[in-house]
Amino acid sequence: MTSPDQAWAAILAHSSPLPVVCVRLQDALGCFLAEPILADRDIPPADRSAMDGFAVCAADVSSAPVELTLTAEVAAGSASAPPLAGGDCVRVFTGANIPPGADTVVMQEDTEPAAGSGKVRFRKAVSAGANVFRRGENAHAGDELLGSGMALTAAGAGVCAAAGCAEVRVHRRPTAAILTTGTELLDAASPALSHQTRNSNGPFVEAALAEQGFLSISPGSVADDPDALIAALLTAAARSDVVILTGGVSVGKYDLVAEAVRQAGATIHYHGVAMKPGKPQLFATGPGATLIFGLPGNPLSAMTGLYELVVPALRRIAGCPPARCRTALPVRLARALTVKGDRQQYLLARLDWTTNGPEAVMVRTVGTADLVAGARADGTVIVPPGTKELPAGSWVDFREWTLRR
Ligand code: AMP
Ligand code: MG
Repeated sequence: MTSPDQAWAAILAHSSPLPVVCVRLQDALGCFLAEPILADRDIPPADRSAMDGFAVCAADVSSAPVELTLTAEVAAGSASAPPLAGGDCVRVFTGANIPPGADTVVMQEDTEPAAGSGKVRFRKAVSAGANVFRRGENAHAGDELLGSGMALTAAGAGVCAAAGCAEVRVHRRPTAAILTTGTELLDAASPALSHQTRNSNGPFVEAALAEQGFLSISPGSVADDPDALIAALLTAAARSDVVILTGGVSVGKYDLVAEAVRQAGATIHYHGVAMKPGKPQLFATGPGATLIFGLPGNPLSAMTGLYELVVPALRRIAGCPPARCRTALPVRLARALTVKGDRQQYLLARLDWTTNGPEAVMVRTVGTADLVAGARADGTVIVPPGTKELPAGSWVDFREWTLRR
């Protein structure tokens, strides 16, 4: 059976970043940059005051106290004052360009007006260059500020604005159609009888994608009916880059997704992944460039499969470099773990942020339908096949489900 890493290799072989679009900076948060952001000028663009105080030539204040003649004032946003002559000083405020000839700013708190003379008294000697942000000390014109392939963060948005980019070229955000399948499913607002199941996978997948910055449409739930499934798949594929189905992907009489995917004209690249939970999963491509994922119906299996392979795939087509699509955080186990089974396992855990770094604390689950436990976890500890004992303190890979806030 296909291992999770082989499944990921198959996804990589059949997916590539979506076309590049130009979007307004405020719409680009989380998008992957399609080209580097370069400094359009030096940052800062001039020598600037880091303090409210007085711009001086340090040589004039090499010993103190000393009095200098106040000749001008420059606020942030004012064009610079005329060049500073020896024995003079200029009042400056934080963010103001300092006048030519000045090399140092003395903070206001270290000065006082010299009585009746129009001069300023400096109480302390200064060291040259103090309290000045030097022109270009953060970056020079033409320097790369943000690299291509980086996801735009909040701080990155600030950098773009500082570099004069009101629009950025990024890969288009992927849109996924979420198709939950199962005749037993009802939405959250409906009163449910004991043989009916509330559709939790739909809202889960939709929220998980929104959290990652992906767009989704939810055409709703489809009954276990071959024709209805094929029709819904074709409509979904026509409207989105990715179709995510849940349920009906195993081997039961009413598991009709694989056949419907074939009938819709798609090619299946794997069906069944050697992971626990999450074995009944499939990946297909077509019609056109659409990626199709079939996830198991059981909520914990669906969650594990989504974060293991589907979110990484969406990151890839969103423009994330392959090595950063499916990262795991190395963490220590808080307590010893005994494991059984030959498939790679994904065990629910939450992260405890201790003074020694993050520690995984296992979350008890009762079977793969236990979505309640899923909501108590921050993700899964990945246990490679064949592992039996993991002592407390062992390093393990952790697949994060929740965004750290
Ligand atoms: P299946 O994969 O279709 O065999 O479904 C496995 C189990 O997951 C069954 O108990 C289903 O009722 C349940 N299930 C399937 N889809 C969903 C869903 N969208 N929300 C909650 N449970 C589901
Ligand atoms: Mg079913």
